[in-house]
Amino acid sequence: MGNGFQVADRFAEGAQYIEGRLRPGTSRDPQDVVDPATGERVHRYAPAGPDDVDAAVAAAGAAYPGWSGATPAERSEALHRLAAVLGARAADFAYAESLQCGKPLKLSTEFDVPGTVDNASFFAGAARHLEGRAAAEYSADHTSYVRREPLGVVGSIAPWNYPLQMAAWKILPAVAAGNTVVLKPAEITPLTSLMFAQAATEAGIPDGVINIVPGTGPDAGEHLVGHPGVVMTSFTGSTAVGRRVAALAASTGKRLHLELGGKAPFLVFDDADLDAAVNGAVAAALVNTGQDCTAATRAYVQRPLYDAFVSGVAALMESVRLGDPFDPSTDLGPLVSHRQRDRVAGFVERARAHATVVTGGEAPGGDLAAGAYYRPTLITGAAQDSEIVRSEVFGPVLVALPFDTDDEGLGLADDTPYGLAASAWTRDLYRANRATREIRAGCVWINDHIPIISEMPHGGYRASGFGKDMSSYSFEEYTQVKHVMYDNTAVARKDWHRTVFGDR
Ligand code: NAD
Repeated sequence: MGNGFQVADRFAEGAQYIEGRLRPGTSRDPQDVVDPATGERVHRYAPAGPDDVDAAVAAAGAAYPGWSGATPAERSEALHRLAAVLGARAADFAYAESLQCGKPLKLSTEFDVPGTVDNASFFAGAARHLEGRAAAEYSADHTSYVRREPLGVVGSIAPWNYPLQMAAWKILPAVAAGNTVVLKPAEITPLTSLMFAQAATEAGIPDGVINIVPGTGPDAGEHLVGHPGVVMTSFTGSTAVGRRVAALAASTGKRLHLELGGKAPFLVFDDADLDAAVNGAVAAALVNTGQDCTAATRAYVQRPLYDAFVSGVAALMESVRLGDPFDPSTDLGPLVSHRQRDRVAGFVERARAHATVVTGGEAPGGDLAAGAYYRPTLITGAAQDSEIVRSEVFGPVLVALPFDTDDEGLGLADDTPYGLAASAWTRDLYRANRATREIRAGCVWINDHIPIISEMPHGGYRASGFGKDMSSYSFEEYTQVKHVMYDNTAVARKDWHRTVFGDR
C-alpha cells in the first residue's frame, strides 16, 4: 500500500476509539471499508453496537469535569498542539482520505487536510475568545453577569463525503468550548476520524475527551441520539435522516444542530464574465465528484448567455480527466461507493425521459470499469418541478436552465426546499446585492462558488438545517449562557418580598 501507511496494521486493535485507545466493536456484522476506485476491500472491522456507544459516552462523561474545568488557555494550547500533529501527519491523512473516499489525492492534499489543520488552529485561538457581556447593575439592587458554559457530552454524527473535515467541524468547536464528544462517523469512511482522535491523544488531549464509534445508523447512531448521557446531538447528513434524528432527539429533549442536504443554485446574469461562469460552474459541480452539500447543481443562465454557457460547460466537462485518485493528473475520482454511483445513475436515467443529457450520463468502461466512476454530466430541458431539479443527486451532475428577467431568475434560484448555499454571477453591484438579499441560503457567493474559510459560518436555512459549523458562531451551538445575579443590598427583607409577605 502506498505512502507506507498500512490500514490493517494501524487498526489491528480495532476501530473503536474509546478513552484514548483502539478496541474492537461489539456489533456482530463486520463492516468493510472499500476503495471505490477499484472496488477492493481496504479493511474489515467490527462496528459499534450499543455497548460501545455506552462505553464511549461513559468515557466522555468521566472526562468532562476535567476538560470543562481546564482554563481556556490550557484548551487552546492542546488544540494548537493538535494542529501541529495534524500538520506533521498531513501525508498520512491525505492518503487515507483518498483511499476510503476515492477523492483525488490533490484534493485531499490541497483542501481536506490543510482545511482541517487550519480549523484546529482557528479553534485553538477562538477557545480564548469566548465572548461575555458586560457585568452591570441592570436592577438597582443587583449585579448581573453572564457565564458562557459548555453543555456536557455531545453526540455527533457525520457523513462520508468529507469524513476528516466533518469530524473536525463537529469536534473542534465542541471541545474548544469545554465539551467532550462521542462522534459516529459514516460506517464506510471511519479511518480519518479515528486518526484525528489518535492525533488528539498524541497532542495531549486527555483520554475520553474525543471518542469515535464507527458503526451504522440503526445500531450505533440511534443509540447515541437517544442516550440519556448525551446532552446534544450534532448531525451532518441527509435531510431525510436528519429529520428522523431530530424526532429521536426530541424524545429525550436534546439540543440539536442539523447540517443537512442542499441543492445550490448557480445564477448567471447576462452581464457576467462568461468564461468565469463556465469555469466556476464546472469546478463547483464536480468538486469532490459532486458529493458536496454546497455543490452547484442548478445553473440558471440569462437567455443571451445560455447557449454559450451550455456549450462551454459541456466542452470543459469533457476535458476533465477521470482516473486513479493517486495519479497526480487525475481531476475526478469515483463516487464514494458503487451504491452511490448507481443512485446517481438512477436520477440521470429517470431525467432522460423528459430532459436532454448533453454530455456524460454514463459510467466509463475500460480501466475504470471496476470503480464507482461516473462521467461529468450536463442536463438541459428539465422542468423546474422535475426530480432532477428538485432532489439532491449528490454526484457530478449539473442541470442548466435559461431565464429571461432578473425577477424570474431569482425566483427560480430560490424555488427549492433547501437553503444551504447559492452563487450569483454578475458585474453589476445592484444585481449582486439583490441576489445576496433575496436568496434564502446560509451562504451566497458572488462570482465564485465553493470556497469556505474557518472564520466564517457554514450552515443551512430551511430544509438544509439550522445552526452553524466553523467560525465563532459555532460556539452558539456548543455553549449555553447562565445569568448570575448578586444581591447588592445585604438586606434580609427585600423590597420585592412585599408581594409575598404583604407590607409588614
Ligand atoms: P446520511 O444521512 O445517509 O448519513 C449521515 C450519517 O447519519 C452517517 O453517519 C449515517 O451512518 C448516519 N445515520 C444513518 N441513519 C441514521 C439513523 N437512523 N440514526 C442516526 N444516524 C444515522 O448522509 P450521507 O449519505 O452519509 O451524506 C450525504 C448527505 O450529507 C447529503 O445529503 C449532504 O448534503 C449532507 N451533507 C451536509 C453537509 C452540511 O454541512 N449541510 C455537509 C456534508 C454533507
